[in-house]
Amino acid sequence: MISAQQTGDRHLFFDHMLLTGGFARDVRLTIQGGVIAAIEAGVAAESGDERHGCGLPGMPNLHSHAFQRGMAGLAERRGPSGDSFWTWREVMYRFLDRMTPGDVRAVAALAYMEMLEGGFTRVGEFHYLHHDFGGRPYADLAEMSHAIAAAAGESGIALTLLPVLYSFSGFGAQPPQPAQMRFVMDIHRYGRLVEAADAAIRDLPDAIVGVAPHSLRAVSPEQIDALADLGAGRPIHIHIAEQVKEVADCLAWSEQRPVEWLLNHAPVDSRWSLVHATHMTPDETVALAKTDAIAGLCPITEANLGDGLFPAETFLTARGRFGVGSDSNVLIDASEELRLLEYGQRLLHRGRNLLAGGEGRSTGADMYMAAVDGGAAALGAASGLTVGAPADIVSLDIRHPSLAGKSGDALLDAYVFAAGRSAIDGVWRRGEQLVSGGRHRKRHKIVADYVATLGRLTA
Ligand code: ZN
Repeated sequence: MISAQQTGDRHLFFDHMLLTGGFARDVRLTIQGGVIAAIEAGVAAESGDERHGCGLPGMPNLHSHAFQRGMAGLAERRGPSGDSFWTWREVMYRFLDRMTPGDVRAVAALAYMEMLEGGFTRVGEFHYLHHDFGGRPYADLAEMSHAIAAAAGESGIALTLLPVLYSFSGFGAQPPQPAQMRFVMDIHRYGRLVEAADAAIRDLPDAIVGVAPHSLRAVSPEQIDALADLGAGRPIHIHIAEQVKEVADCLAWSEQRPVEWLLNHAPVDSRWSLVHATHMTPDETVALAKTDAIAGLCPITEANLGDGLFPAETFLTARGRFGVGSDSNVLIDASEELRLLEYGQRLLHRGRNLLAGGEGRSTGADMYMAAVDGGAAALGAASGLTVGAPADIVSLDIRHPSLAGKSGDALLDAYVFAAGRSAIDGVWRRGEQLVSGGRHRKRHKIVADYVATLGRLTA
């Protein structure tokens, strides 16, 4: 008989585990080469199995700007008048204007490490900081993509890299502002960047490259057509309808609202993720749900920036699909994204359990499973814990006081609404345990690099 050691098989045993059909008890996973080779439920643990409490599929983080982690807390001081998304953006532009590829790598590594500690196992990096100071292209067009890939490799998180096309400062092809020159390129250079990004991620397991027109204000209709072709077979992400001013500018330009315009002019389907989609009419909300595209929701950042509330109840009633993202990375916590998503709806509608799938259903479990599914689809990855998928797992400590006495869906209600990330004890990527006792195994080095980098950037 061949032993587990000889085949390289590993076995993880969970008292409770969220599989694609729901929670199961006494689940034994066989992992070969980082991939789930077998799932057995209702079985006894065997000697040599690693035993854990409650296993969940890792949450995909479908929208991140990793470098913005470095300015978390730097834009919370009141300015002379009317602080808004747009004044925040000026702070952000000043911050990024000092960053080298080495700085981006150090800051992104911290963000990705915190994502793993906070329950995320894959990140969609919406990456638009491409060029050197003043907008000069680096000798290697994908220099910054290499920095992102290196940070993903150091942390161990799975990467969906979304190089961003950014050409204009406003609707109607307005010329870019000086502060935007590090992002700007035309469609031809962008095609070369996507090829170079493919090469940059080649050695990262499970990595994917998608395409991303930044927003309707930063690209032209012709460029959106070109990207839809260029991105054949790849995920396509776009920022949309995040701000009321953006809706007003779009109406002035086209007499249509942003989501309305996109659905009328682009072949939006399940390959697409519309990030934010905050400001929609009920008709737009239902129309978006019907396309099967993913709504990319970032409740913590949307609250931090004062964007507004996504019409989640209407969208989910129309069977819309969504995932969550940490976007500005001002605070990184998968459970808190879900909690704030539901709480926004409770405050708006003065009701409770608004995003549960129906009577008797668990809000925490329904939101968690929907966000795993939608997030994975958005990032071009396998969804959940199934045979053949990478063993990307988050474990909750069932001895945590908030989880005491719970089983099944109630564990997710306790995680999302009560314990939060303090209940996370282990995180695995491709079967390799990166987080133990809530801490990433490279935390010491990654934090030291980050602190040194921030010291220079804020000097
Ligand atoms: Zn964003």
